[in-house]
Amino acid sequence: MTVAHDYVELPASQVARPDWAAWLADRLDLQWRTGEWDPGSLLFTADLDNPRSRAFACRVAACDALVESPASHCEACRAVSTRRGHPPDFDTTHTPSLPAVRQPNVGDGLQPGRSQFALGDLSTALRAEILYCLQRRDEEDRPVVPAMMRRIIRNLPPGLSSLLDLGTPLSITHLPKTTHGLVNDMQVRLRRARVQYDGVDPTLGDVWDCALVGLLSAPNRRYPAASGHLDFRPIRQRWLREIVKEYGRAVRPTVAELRRTANVTALASNALASRPAAERPQTLALADMTLVVQAIEIARNPKDGSAYSQAQRKAMLGWWRRLLQYARLAGLMDDIPGVFALSPELHGIEAVDTTEDESGRAIPEHVIAQLDQYLPLMSADSTYKHAGWQAEDFAAMYQEVYRIIRDTGRRPEEATSLKRDCLQWIDGKPSLIYDNRKRRRYGRRLPIRPETARHIQQWQKHRDSLPRCRAAKSGSSPPPELPADPESGT
Ligand SMILES: [Zn+2]
Repeated sequence: MTVAHDYVELPASQVARPDWAAWLADRLDLQWRTGEWDPGSLLFTADLDNPRSRAFACRVAACDALVESPASHCEACRAVSTRRGHPPDFDTTHTPSLPAVRQPNVGDGLQPGRSQFALGDLSTALRAEILYCLQRRDEEDRPVVPAMMRRIIRNLPPGLSSLLDLGTPLSITHLPKTTHGLVNDMQVRLRRARVQYDGVDPTLGDVWDCALVGLLSAPNRRYPAASGHLDFRPIRQRWLREIVKEYGRAVRPTVAELRRTANVTALASNALASRPAAERPQTLALADMTLVVQAIEIARNPKDGSAYSQAQRKAMLGWWRRLLQYARLAGLMDDIPGVFALSPELHGIEAVDTTEDESGRAIPEHVIAQLDQYLPLMSADSTYKHAGWQAEDFAAMYQEVYRIIRDTGRRPEEATSLKRDCLQWIDGKPSLIYDNRKRRRYGRRLPIRPETARHIQQWQKHRDSLPRCRAAKSGSSPPPELPADPESGT
C-alpha cells in the first residue's frame, strides 16, 4: 500500500512532520476494505451491497445516479419531480433526459453508476490522516459516505498538509452540518492520535480535554467523548484531587460518571477545608467523614439552588463510596487512617419530607408584613422580670423566636427548643440544626440564610451576657412556650 510508507515527499509543516505521517501509516490496516479501497490508484469505490458504505440508487427506476440516503431522489430527479408537482407514478415513469452527473473529484473523470472519492491530489500526510480516521470510524461501525468525502476533499484549501492545520475556515464551515460534523470528528480523532504521538499524558493537568482522554461519554454510548472538559480544580486538596484523577485513569469510568465523582469530591473537599486534617490527611478521622456526609446531605444544586432529592443524595454518597473503595483498593489511601471511612450505620442519607422539612409551615406573607411592622412592640407593655432578666431581654427573645419561625418555617416548639450549638457552618454557609419532635426526627439540618444566622448569633451573644435562668413551673411565668431551660435554648 503506497500510503503506508510513501511519506518522504511530505511538505514541511508544524503539524505534519514526516514522522507524524509515518506514525499514522504504521497504524493503518493494509487490508482495509480491499474490495473498495485501491491503494494503487488512491481511489475508494463504494460497494453498493456493503451496508457500511452509504451509496444508494436514486428512487427513479430509470436513473443511475447514486445518493447518500436510501429511498431518496438525486438532485436532478428531485428538481423535475418538484416542477411537475410530485406525480405519484414519477419514480416508475420518469426517464432522465441526461446521464446523471455527479460532481467528480476523481482525476479519471466520471464513472457513472459508481460512488467514489479519490485521495490522489492530497499530500501524503493528509491521505494518511483521512485513512486513519476512516479506519477508526470503521471500528465503530460508522459508515463511509463517499459523497461526503468528495465534498470535504473538494473544499480543502490547496496545499493543506494536515487536517489539524485546518481550523475552521469558511470553506469548511459552509458545508452541510453532517459534513462539517465529519470534519470535526476526524479532527478530534487526529488530536487524540497526536497526543499519543507526542507522548503527552492528557491526564496530567487538573483540567482534562475530554476529546483527548478517550473516555466514553456516558454508559449508554459506545464512542469516546469528543468535546467538553473535566475540571478537577474545585477539589482543593491536592491529595484528594490526585485520587480522583487516578480513579479516572485506572477505572476509566465514562465522562459523566467521572464528572459526578469529581463533583461529590468537590463537596467533600469544601467540607474538609475548615478541618485541620484537610492538608494533613494522615490525621483524618471518623468525624471528618461525618462532616463530608453531612455536606452531601445538605448540598444544593448549584444551577438553581434547589434541594437534591433523597435519591440524588443517595447517588452522590454512592459515588463518594465507590471512590473511597477504589482508593483503598489501589493503595492510594495507605497513609490515611482506616477510621476515615464510611459506616453503613452512621452515614446513611435520610429521607427528607420536603413539604415538612424544607418548605416548612410558612406564615402567610400578609401576616408576616403585619407582624414585622409591630415587631418592636412585642412585649413593649410588659414589665415582667425574672432571675435577672429584664422585660427587654424577654422581648428580644420573643423577637428572635419570631424571626426564626418566620425565616425558617420551623414550628414554634422547634424554634424554642433549639440548642446552643444549633448553627453549623460548612464552607461559609449556615445550617440550622433542630429537632422535628412531632415526627421524632432529631438533629435535622436546614440550610438558612446568612442574615438569619447572624440574628441568631446576636441573640446568643446577648443571652450569654444574662444570668442563667431556670424557668418557673407551669402555671407561672415565663410562658410555657419558652424553653424550660435557657441553657438548652437559643
Ligand atoms: Zn435520479
